Amino acid sequence: MAVEKVIIIGSGPAGLTAALYTARADLNPLVIAGDQIGGQVSLTAEVENYPGFPDGLTGAEMVEQFRQHAERFGARIEYDLVTEVDFTGGAPFTVKTSSKTYRALSVIITVGASPRRLGVPGEEEYIGRGVSYCGTCDGFFFRGKDVVVVGGGDSAIEEGLFLTKFATGVRVIHRRDELRAGAFLQNRARNNEKMSFIWDTVVDEIVGDDRVTGVKVRNVKTGEVEQLDTDGVFIFIGHYPNSALFEGQLEMDAQGYLVTSDRMQASVPGVFAAGEIQDSIWRQVATSVGQAAAAAIACTRWLEEHEEEHEKLVVST
Ligand code: NAP
Repeated sequence: MAVEKVIIIGSGPAGLTAALYTARADLNPLVIAGDQIGGQVSLTAEVENYPGFPDGLTGAEMVEQFRQHAERFGARIEYDLVTEVDFTGGAPFTVKTSSKTYRALSVIITVGASPRRLGVPGEEEYIGRGVSYCGTCDGFFFRGKDVVVVGGGDSAIEEGLFLTKFATGVRVIHRRDELRAGAFLQNRARNNEKMSFIWDTVVDEIVGDDRVTGVKVRNVKTGEVEQLDTDGVFIFIGHYPNSALFEGQLEMDAQGYLVTSDRMQASVPGVFAAGEIQDSIWRQVATSVGQAAAAAIACTRWLEEHEEEHEKLVVST
């Protein structure tokens, strides 16, 4: 079996940046993209804080630019899901997908994070029938309807603002009396007449018939409980890292984020990680891209340092 020089797992901004840099370093990278290219940003309505794009662009447009850029320098992209990895025993590493088994001298992991669930009754039951984690994907279905947004961070406010294009009203339910979102988004939200806020309140249950009809909420200060009628519940309460695949193989912190060195190396030499899979703090497209460029350069140097040991292996070109 041929051995790849580098396999990149994941195809969000970090994965496609790692692909661009390793392609330009002549490593002929193989990106295993998952079912769909782009990661979380591809579902973002508008990215307004990525330098160099003063007019903003949609997440999907951004991913398309990243893809074209990586492929222009020779990155190969396979649409498949990684089901198993074996990093024990050093390079070459094994990466299995649903259809193939690959071997690689180095791996860059950029599988990102997924939206957290509230974990309340009714949530799982009504996913796709009024419960959503993506305003950009599902907002259209709520034209002329009322929705609530749960959360107080940038995602909740940004997606809530997007939802005002469709919904008659967007009530933001936040567990505190102060938003976590940045000042710019906060101001925009406060100036949008379709948006309102329900402070110090948590959702205890999502109720409905064949679709969502309301939420049972509780004021955490007064203990008062009430039911609010609504057609949609959009949940934006943060993310968890998609690291289950690497359990027992790579070191993780208590929240499941991969532990990386200042050279972006995971706990196994030759395995690198970038973006939200190892970053619980910054989580911006710009920071993920920067981390991925660093990971790709570190990976390139690591391969150069180990060239002699790797020479006996049959490397795919
Ligand atoms: P986040 O910043 O972690 O905010 C999560 C929000 O959900 C917080 O307001 C939190 O409340 C609330 N929350 C958490 N668990 C909850 C629970 N069980 N029940 C009710 N509420 C809960 O997550 P995010 O908004 O997805 O943002 C993630 C990162 O992406 C951030 O770094 C953010 O800056 C970045 N981002 C940036 C942009 C942008 O710059 N345009 C857009 C989207 C995301 P507390 O505030 O009380 O903790």
